[in-house]
Amino acid sequence: MHDKLFTPGPTEVRAELLKELANPQIHHRSPEFSLLYDDIQKNLKKLLYTEKPVLLFTSSSTGAMEAAVTNGVKKRCLNFVNGAFSERWHQITVKNGIKCDKVSVPWDKAIKPELVDEKLSSGKYDAITVVLNETSTGLMNPIAEIGEVVKKYEDVVFLVDAVSGMAGTKIEVDEWGIDMCLAGVQKAFALPAGLTVASVSDKLLKRAEEVENNSYYFNLPLLYKYHKRSQTRTTPAIPQLYALRKQLNDIVDNEGVEARFSRHQEMAEYVQNWALKYFDIYAEEGYWSNTVTCIENTRGIDVQGLINTLVDKYQIRIANGYGDLKNKAFRIGHMGDLNLSDMKGLIAIIEDILDI
Ligand code: PLP
Repeated sequence: MHDKLFTPGPTEVRAELLKELANPQIHHRSPEFSLLYDDIQKNLKKLLYTEKPVLLFTSSSTGAMEAAVTNGVKKRCLNFVNGAFSERWHQITVKNGIKCDKVSVPWDKAIKPELVDEKLSSGKYDAITVVLNETSTGLMNPIAEIGEVVKKYEDVVFLVDAVSGMAGTKIEVDEWGIDMCLAGVQKAFALPAGLTVASVSDKLLKRAEEVENNSYYFNLPLLYKYHKRSQTRTTPAIPQLYALRKQLNDIVDNEGVEARFSRHQEMAEYVQNWALKYFDIYAEEGYWSNTVTCIENTRGIDVQGLINTLVDKYQIRIANGYGDLKNKAFRIGHMGDLNLSDMKGLIAIIEDILDI
């Protein structure tokens, strides 16, 4: 028995997917491995609406965030910050000794395309980082609109953390002009943690060739060299890849990508309507996330008490507010393989506990 996860990652993993982890080990330089790799590649491209390679990282998402900035910046990077994970990306950039600045906006506000335009017009930057879906606040930034702006600046690479959005909300990598779109699979992919995927554009790969200290483990040109052979450069997490292959087959061939996004939208609307009825939503209107809602504790409830009762009595887990929002908010994840009736069941239990 385990707690059913309604957290914004990691998320509940179906038993069929867990079974995939038990496949016999194969060799990562064998033809069987390349077939596995190609299957994954084909469906990741469909999921992300891209013709670009989608590299596989044996690391959590933070590793790929590090790869993005260590390979993508020659001149100076601008980190747009409106939550805990975009702040993390700035810290990663700083810690790697990469020249950078950050633009902070209040955590309940989106990064607007006009702001991006204003900052890029200085000509100081050749890379920007933006988080699609701030898991800390339940806010979804307008990546398509920002992409339109970035397209005007030929020299700038557009690096996007889509960690808690990918596979739960539509991302059109090519159309939106994203140079790197990364996500760990423990969120809306609904797989065990430890593997990250990231699309990479030609422009980013070219940039990476020109960057002097472009990392060893996260060296994009070398990762791409092996990708062209349908292999990974270092020994991959093969059990994870079996689970990813099965999940992608289910997403693309059984559920359908558009249907998956609609299911997420439906769950989000249900939770958000409920939140508005009894509480409030932290993020500014128009930018609510399709995968996680951060509910402001306007009724002064005992948030940790609610979480503890859900765990102790019902074996269900939701998340407290992140960082400074602890007890001032709580977060419900509506992503992965959960469905509307799961959300209805959860909300009914919460109403019962809170007696509302
Ligand atoms: N970016 C976002 C938006 C996240 O939600 C998270 C984790 O919750 C991360 C980055 C870091 O991910 P990981 O723990 O997989 O390194």
